[in-house]
Amino acid sequence: KIQAEGGAQIGSLSTADHKALYTKSIIEKRLLVALNQQDLKVSYQPQLDLNTGEIIAVEAFVRWDDKEIGTVAPDVLIPIAEETGLINNIGTFMLEQVCMQAAQWKESGLNIKASINLSVREFRDKNMAKQISSILERTNCPAELLQIEITEKFALEAEAEKSIIKQMKQLHNDGVRFVLDDFGTGYASFRYMQMLPLSQFKIDQTFISSMPYQPKTQKLVNGMIQFGKSIHMGVLAEGVETEEQKELLAEYGCDAIQGYLVGYPMDADDIEKFF
Ligand code: C2E
Ligand code: MG
Ligand code: MG
Ligand code: MG
Repeated sequence: KIQAEGGAQIGSLSTADHKALYTKSIIEKRLLVALNQQDLKVSYQPQLDLNTGEIIAVEAFVRWDDKEIGTVAPDVLIPIAEETGLINNIGTFMLEQVCMQAAQWKESGLNIKASINLSVREFRDKNMAKQISSILERTNCPAELLQIEITEKFALEAEAEKSIIKQMKQLHNDGVRFVLDDFGTGYASFRYMQMLPLSQFKIDQTFISSMPYQPKTQKLVNGMIQFGKSIHMGVLAEGVETEEQKELLAEYGCDAIQGYLVGYPMDADDIEKFF
């Protein structure tokens, strides 16, 4: 019998479960090596302001191409990192890299905000806000340049909630902006909006991809945008791939878009060329 995390007993495992556990343990092992050797990379995707036609920010994604196991996509990597606790190490790595980069860009006259994805779970660590502040200070990055995207994948545990809210408010007061990612796909969004100091939400790309063909989805997207306006939150649409989608979103009054139409995720050098 195998002792699962959290103490649950797993009886007989199917072949698929065995394979998943095996894969998970290999990824975990290699991830530890990659973190130690600073082998992870960061790619950046531009975000376009529809009102001004300017690029206002870039979102940073973790990229991992391992010597032994090849490329591991975030959709595989992040859930395993969350389970094993290594998500905190990825978070710290990303924060350091991205703040350093944003400060460097500012130095060279490129004043753009940089977004990073953090798991709300990382704020269960009571020192998270302090840690972020010290990274900002150490890298000489103004707090106003940092945006933190969080997802609504998890319900917050009641005990953790107070400390998470407190830490986010602290950072928000310092000038850090918080963004709710993948809006509409989780189950905690309205509660999050009530409790947390959020400046913007991002309409999930699943809505955007079906929008041009489905009148119902068009109404949903338009409704989300009007809702954002009514509560004074910025709205960004993600996964925008076609002119047609962009035009519909502009017509609805969406503030900003991100997606292959504007630009693919790219490394820092290519972002500079892009500008
Ligand atoms: P997300 O934050 O919602 O990021 C959007 C994802 O959609 C990214 O995938 C991006 O490369 C992809 N994308 C961008 N534009 C388009 C488009 O026009 N069409 C399509 N089909 N896709 C597009 P990626 O990089 O594979 O990341 C997937 C998810 O993994 C992210 O979703 C985010 O939740 C998570 N993630 C990525 N990097 C990190 C990280 O450093 N830390 C944490 N905690 N999570 C991360
Ligand atoms: Mg994101
Ligand atoms: Mg998203
Ligand atoms: Mg997503």
